[in-house]
Amino acid sequence: MKAAVWEGPNDLQIKNVPCPVPSENEVLIETRAVGICGTDLEIFKGRFKHIVPPLIIGHEGGGTVQEIGRGVSRIKKGDRVIAECILYCGACYYCRQGDFGLCDDSKVIGISGAQGEYAEYFTVPEKNCYILPEKISWPEACLIDSLADTVHGFKKVNMPLYSTVAVFGPGPGGLFFCSLAKMRGASKVYLVGTREKRLRLGPRFGADLAININKDNAAEIIKEDTGGRGVDVVIEASGSERALKDGMSILKKGGTLQIYGVFGAAVPVDLEMIQLYEFNVVGSAGSDYATSIKLVDEGAVNVKDLVSHKFRLEDLPGAFSSGLIEKREDNYMKGVVLF
Ligand SMILES: [Zn+2]
Ligand SMILES: [Zn+2]
Repeated sequence: MKAAVWEGPNDLQIKNVPCPVPSENEVLIETRAVGICGTDLEIFKGRFKHIVPPLIIGHEGGGTVQEIGRGVSRIKKGDRVIAECILYCGACYYCRQGDFGLCDDSKVIGISGAQGEYAEYFTVPEKNCYILPEKISWPEACLIDSLADTVHGFKKVNMPLYSTVAVFGPGPGGLFFCSLAKMRGASKVYLVGTREKRLRLGPRFGADLAININKDNAAEIIKEDTGGRGVDVVIEASGSERALKDGMSILKKGGTLQIYGVFGAAVPVDLEMIQLYEFNVVGSAGSDYATSIKLVDEGAVNVKDLVSHKFRLEDLPGAFSSGLIEKREDNYMKGVVLF
């Protein structure tokens, strides 16, 4: 079968590799669609030192079940499924508490310990498969993973009724956070970022005010708008040190800060603020596929508008090396690979 194999920094190649065989409790999926994630780009660039080539990357996809392994009973041949990418062990201390994202012995499809989905076929444990409702198209299905991560992150946030919320980073995750905040009854949602075209999508995802920090002083505007107090909740979804600093400066005393963006390295944080202002700081490492699928199926969260680029498997090396994805050229928002 054909697969996109990462061979080292800036080196992704389409190769012919053996088709995987499903082990016990696994299914073989004929890939139909895979979302391109920021993590793929980081791997492509060689920025994660612990990830070793060769590796088939891709982890936000699904397809049609072609073959089932021994012991598989719920999923049938021909089912349309989306695959949750965290391969949790199911037996460790955290898994037994239902905190699969914190599993002590996890692997992640296309990232660590398991081959990925930029391939004509891939295998995945049955327990990671979710049946895709008929109404959800394959390009839309590619956003389920991002939304599932956001839903999980949102569940970690203690958000009082009719709260004010500031989201930093207008990527898919940030926009989804805006939608979820509104859904949970936020009185006002601020979306803060640097990319004008992405910020303009804000209102379609429930943002009441989108602020471009290259033009305006977001911290000042939000402070003033909240009577000098700041917001109840800050979601850091950009992975930028500047956003983190701005976010902490507009979080009200006793407010909650969600660290959702990927920083990739340690950044300085003013701990005294956390101590003096009694900030609640929460993280996010898991996902909630069941809720994410329901939100997409019922049209509660807009995912269609985020698909900006459609690729074929053969296009992938070029898409990564051209800078299109990295520089988000040509209004790039979310790319999907369709088979
Ligand atoms: Zn991802
Ligand atoms: Zn575990």
